[in-house]
Amino acid sequence: MLWKCISVLFFLGTIPFATAYGQNDLGSEKDLLSKIRQLTFEGKRAGEGYFNATGSRLIFQSERDDKNPFYQIYLMDLETGDVERISPGHGKTTCAWIHPSDRFALYASTHDDPDAKSKMQAELDFRASGQKRRYSWDYDENFDIYAHDLRTGSRQNLTKAPGYDAEGAYSPDGKRVVFASNRRAYSGNMTPDEAKIFEHDKSYMMDIYIMDSDGSNLKQLTNSPGYDGGPFFSADGSKITWRRFSKDGSRAEIFTMDLATGEEKQLTRMGVMSWAPYFHSSGEYLIFASNREGFANFELFIVDAAGRHEPIRVTHTDGFDGLPVFSPDGNSLSWTSTRSANKTSQIFMAAWNHSRARNLLGLDEAGANKSSQAVSADITTTKGAIDVKDIRLHVSRLASDEMEGRLTGTEGEKLATAYVSSVFQQLGLEPGGDEGYFQPFGFTAGVRLGQNNRLAISNQENPKLDEEWRPLALSRSGEIKSADVVFAGYGIVAPGTDKVPDYNSYGELDVTGKWVMVLRFQPESVPVEWRRHMAHYSDLPYKAAVAKRRGAVGMIVVTGPRAEARDRLVELKFDAASQTSIAVLAVSDELAVKIMGQDGPRLGGIQEKLDKGELVAGFKIKDIKVSGEIDIMREKRIGRNVIGLLKSTADKKLPPVILGAHVDHLGRGEVSGSLAREDERNAIHYGADDNASGVAAMLEASQYLADLQAKGKLGAKRDIYFIAWSGEEMGTLGSTHFTEKLAAGADLKGKVAAYLNMDMIGHLQDKAYLQGIASSTAWSREIERRNVPVGLSIATKNDPYLPTDATPFYMHGVPILSAFTGAHENYSSPRDTADTLNYEGIRDIARLMAGITRSIARSKDSPDYQHVDRKESGIGRKHLRAYLGTIPSYGQDEAVKGVKLQGAVKGAPAEAAGIKNGDVLIGLAGVKVDTIHDFMSALSGLKAGEMTEMIILRDGNRIEMNVIPGARE
Ligand SMILES: [Zn+2]
Repeated sequence: MLWKCISVLFFLGTIPFATAYGQNDLGSEKDLLSKIRQLTFEGKRAGEGYFNATGSRLIFQSERDDKNPFYQIYLMDLETGDVERISPGHGKTTCAWIHPSDRFALYASTHDDPDAKSKMQAELDFRASGQKRRYSWDYDENFDIYAHDLRTGSRQNLTKAPGYDAEGAYSPDGKRVVFASNRRAYSGNMTPDEAKIFEHDKSYMMDIYIMDSDGSNLKQLTNSPGYDGGPFFSADGSKITWRRFSKDGSRAEIFTMDLATGEEKQLTRMGVMSWAPYFHSSGEYLIFASNREGFANFELFIVDAAGRHEPIRVTHTDGFDGLPVFSPDGNSLSWTSTRSANKTSQIFMAAWNHSRARNLLGLDEAGANKSSQAVSADITTTKGAIDVKDIRLHVSRLASDEMEGRLTGTEGEKLATAYVSSVFQQLGLEPGGDEGYFQPFGFTAGVRLGQNNRLAISNQENPKLDEEWRPLALSRSGEIKSADVVFAGYGIVAPGTDKVPDYNSYGELDVTGKWVMVLRFQPESVPVEWRRHMAHYSDLPYKAAVAKRRGAVGMIVVTGPRAEARDRLVELKFDAASQTSIAVLAVSDELAVKIMGQDGPRLGGIQEKLDKGELVAGFKIKDIKVSGEIDIMREKRIGRNVIGLLKSTADKKLPPVILGAHVDHLGRGEVSGSLAREDERNAIHYGADDNASGVAAMLEASQYLADLQAKGKLGAKRDIYFIAWSGEEMGTLGSTHFTEKLAAGADLKGKVAAYLNMDMIGHLQDKAYLQGIASSTAWSREIERRNVPVGLSIATKNDPYLPTDATPFYMHGVPILSAFTGAHENYSSPRDTADTLNYEGIRDIARLMAGITRSIARSKDSPDYQHVDRKESGIGRKHLRAYLGTIPSYGQDEAVKGVKLQGAVKGAPAEAAGIKNGDVLIGLAGVKVDTIHDFMSALSGLKAGEMTEMIILRDGNRIEMNVIPGARE
């Protein structure tokens, strides 16, 4: 029956929990329980979970079908997370148990009741009417106990006698069944007194019975007035335990019985409702639920098997905690609790501290050996190959000196990709690339100046390259004929908004066939809204595009004497996304003054006016012609992805699923993105977390799934691709090449079912982050199920636009899911080394992602694709002028307003201001900061060197602090 005790649940949901007693006190809970996690999520409610003999399965009851308002019985595979309903689907069911052979499941059901379906409808109608009633179990006399053959699906009724038969459990040897029944009330043998009580309390006549597992050889074990129910065997089969209610049903105590002698022993005398007892596998103590702490606040307690010691409280959480069972190895506890997020009852699981329990109960040391025998294997350990040893090996190889930081297109990357392909080969994966396992792609690795750069300014000595002037990477190469120069302020053309006026540096200027000289950046002292708005229009590729559109032959960029900048002469830099067909070059402030001739001395003054937002008309510079030649060498290199393929043996194939991780990293930090400190320049960036961790996990997952396939246990309807991407650090080059080639101008719907990604999973602390949840409705369910055998604590993040290889897939119509364990202070620096990783964390994430991959591969339905608009502030990092050096925390609940920080970069303005780990930024420079986008927007409005106000929450207190932003460029 439900909960094995109904009068208890009678009040649940109708009376507010007795908060005076049940204050959350997880500190105490941690004494005996750790790694507490919710096991079931689906449906309206679930409960009464019982392990099989090996601890690899859990059978439970749950209301999951909208058409049936009663419980049905489900079987969960704790190794894979697979869940299937095994009961008939109609009628009521309860109290399941798995035979030690795993061949049969026992449960009580009313499906043979001719009125079963009309009772379902009546209950549905009642619920639809909106009426409320107190919960009650009706002791439906049509309940019988059935043995369900899990191979054939056939069912045998073991208790054909009239009356309520339920609460059954097999003995450990599988030969007997103990159960509860009120059948005596239907046999005509009640006394008039009993008959009178039975009329309004059908549980009054309940007693414990035992029979052989075929239903024969029935024997009544208890015969006491009031409800005896919920019996279970001890692990050695010599005893049973159950709870006995007082005659009036108001109290219950825990009992055991020696089956050889029939001797009963009362273990508790708490005078409240104590019920649902269960033996620990050591036999030394039992766990049970009691409302000692408050009428509806049920908590778990343990008591020694002799009943000598006072019961010890186990749980300390508001609401209901009951129906506890130990795993067969005695190392885990499963129970039913309303501590779920939505307060519905669900099944929970935790690691159990057996030695602490013995200690608390004062059990002598003599029993220690016996108990340690019972405590052996971890029930969630799978037989597959995902283990810490292999992961360590992969990470240590990839993050070694030999691989020199795995920069795309270098020897180090070749070694790393060769390593991945050799693992694929050993595992028997088929090559999925264009050249065996490899998929090469060309890219521009960088730019440098060629031999033929010269600049000629009429009436001037030729200026010195790299000192007075420099071509910029976005420039075209080749000769530029002599042309006039026009000064056009900041060179910005930005349409206005309701808050910001139109801005046009060009006005009526005609620049056709001329050079345009512009100031770098944007007006610095205008209102913050202006700055924010104009940030988008002020980067150099954008300015160059405007100049080109207006017919200019080239653009000359000057920082200007008033601007804050680290490098006065703009850096050559490389930005693959930006190239233009006009000449673009930078000049020093001094050279700019010379070019401007008689207007030269005005440059500072003009900039000052422009900075205030005043309009200064552009003008042609008199008597100056500029000509020259630009010679930029673009260095082409080849990078390569590594693709291994696990082919499905199914006849009709569905779109494949892909599990990937990028293998490249930052080399010695010679490319943009390195956060190395000054003293770490040119050191190898090992990239152990970023992303040897993800590749190691991908390799282990491929090994595990290939192993399942070899054993004929994978059952994949789809091919599985395992891909190590290169070029990620340079802007997802490898995954972009792959997706664009495969999509061939269209999207990937019908070509790829889903893409799963792992990038930086080596720093698991409290939670693993699963990102991109909004890309498909399938993810929540997949994560719930596949996390069952893993037990990770997970935080999900909706945004599918991620700075990693998942994004090219999402942009091509593929649902994506990406695992991540958060940024840290070693990120993108030579300090990201193999000895800093949490290898158990990597293993767990690998197991979860392998489980999800397997699940999609086995499913005939591809996850649906959900489109999400890109939430953009319109401001990328490159638009930011000012810099605070805050490190955002990823451990943030999306519902929380503000930006949670995990601290500040050493020596950065935010550190000087006093930012600490855990601070939540809620305001900056007068802008209310609710999201990271607000933060970016506020940042874009800051002026380097100008003090501004920052508001944070620290431990709930609002703190205002001043910060002086630094210059980013
Ligand atoms: Zn990465």
